[in-house]
Amino acid sequence: MNRIIFWFKRDLRLEDNRGLRQAAAEAVEIVPVFILDKGLLAKLDGPGSRTGFLISALDRLDRKLREKSSRLFCFYDAPENVFDRLISELRPEAIFTNRSYSWTGEKTQQRVEKLCRRRGVGFKDFNDSLLVPPEKIAARKVYGPFFRLWLSALNSGDFSVEPAPERLATPSLRLPSLSDSVRQLRPEVNRRWSPDYALKRLKEYDFRRYDRDRNRLDVDGTSRLSVALRFGLVSVRQVLQQVLKKLPADSQFVKELAWREFWYHIRYHFPWTEKLEFQEKRRGLEWFNREEDIRAVEEARTGYPVIDAAIRQLRQEGWMHNRARLIVASFLTKDLLIDWRIGEGLFRKYLLDYDEVVNVGNWQWSASVGADPRPLRVFNPQLQAEKYDPQCRYIKRYLPELKKFACRQIQALDLPGYHQPLLDHRSATIRLRQVYFK
Ligand SMILES: Cc1cc2nc3c(=O)[nH]c(=O)nc-3n(C[C@H](O)[C@H](O)[C@H](O)COP(=O)(O)OP(=O)(O)OC[C@H]3O[C@@H](n4cnc5c(N)ncnc54)[C@H](O)[C@@H]3O)c2cc1C
Repeated sequence: MNRIIFWFKRDLRLEDNRGLRQAAAEAVEIVPVFILDKGLLAKLDGPGSRTGFLISALDRLDRKLREKSSRLFCFYDAPENVFDRLISELRPEAIFTNRSYSWTGEKTQQRVEKLCRRRGVGFKDFNDSLLVPPEKIAARKVYGPFFRLWLSALNSGDFSVEPAPERLATPSLRLPSLSDSVRQLRPEVNRRWSPDYALKRLKEYDFRRYDRDRNRLDVDGTSRLSVALRFGLVSVRQVLQQVLKKLPADSQFVKELAWREFWYHIRYHFPWTEKLEFQEKRRGLEWFNREEDIRAVEEARTGYPVIDAAIRQLRQEGWMHNRARLIVASFLTKDLLIDWRIGEGLFRKYLLDYDEVVNVGNWQWSASVGADPRPLRVFNPQLQAEKYDPQCRYIKRYLPELKKFACRQIQALDLPGYHQPLLDHRSATIRLRQVYFK
């Protein structure tokens, strides 16, 4: 082919990028494009530092493309408007991209595919983001059987990591650059996360400590690769290869990668779960949704230090430890009886690794309305804190106002001058059973 537009989405890298490599192999000229989707950015409504992170990842991608005598063209509009214009102006033979498996991404992609059909331009997409795409194995409603099936597909698949294309010939075109499009947004520099962290973390993180440390709130024990995976700064195959150098394929870390894919498979086979509970019997629960409670959670003043610390971590860093996400989600849905969709929205607003499929799946799971055979899981926030933050280091890091208290006072909620707990966990559990088993 003479000219292909390559549409970058959640794959902001040149190495091991399946769609890009194929485009480079098939076309004489490549036009790399990223679209800052106006509607999507408005819907996400996140802090400026999250947009700032995206912009710096795009800036990095542009630099990498320039090393290959190419460059990134960037637009701020709806994707179908951009491609309608580009098809007229550039007359490409095809648009290539990596496949979107999320609700929003799939709808957007379908609009562009439809446009291509109407305009007589080819459209090809590739699976880049999943180790085992949902088309490949049968549907499973429970994680255990899913993992076994997924693992056997993994063992027979090809997960080699491909290098960046050697050459990308891009014509000189009068199209907007990243800085042209960014002018219309108001990003803030994200000082905590730089896109360069991804490859460094991938090399330096010791995957062998994962089993021992992954649940500890007070140590840097997890990989923190979720942001890199979300934006495609590294590929999931690169992560897998690195893990397999140290650990077997059925290790806990690989199981976590499988959790990520489990939610994508659930989304694919049960697409209505975007808004609706996976479990039919748990639809229409009588959520309390008290405004004061919702505000107290978002403002980190529930009176439960581990919850408040987790929310501070989320708002300061755009990231929250998995154990903390579990504790917060249980507290919000089970203790306060706040609809999981509201919790999902809270994480959507602040998480840098926000991924609608993974977030919805986990929120439903935490609320015991999702793909989980256990009838009801309840986490006691105090016991969780004692177990996973035994010296209160995590709590004191994010709530420095509690540094003056001994850890056992924090654990007993004996904190004069601090917020009163919104409710008593034990009574909340009784109330919860009445609502869930009505
Ligand atoms: C209520 C709730 C909401 C969540 N929302 C998101 C979200 O929007 N985006 C997101 O990427 N993760 C989400 N998670 C999953 C998990 O908390 C994060 O992936 C993890 O904390 C990221 O940190 P890490 O990279 O250090 O993870 P590690 O523990 O190092 O795990 C490695 C990778 O495995 C995957 N993974 C780990 N746990 C899970 C899980 N429970 N579900 C799916 N994938 C997992 C991630 O890709 C992660 O980067 C959520 C979990 C809960 C309980």
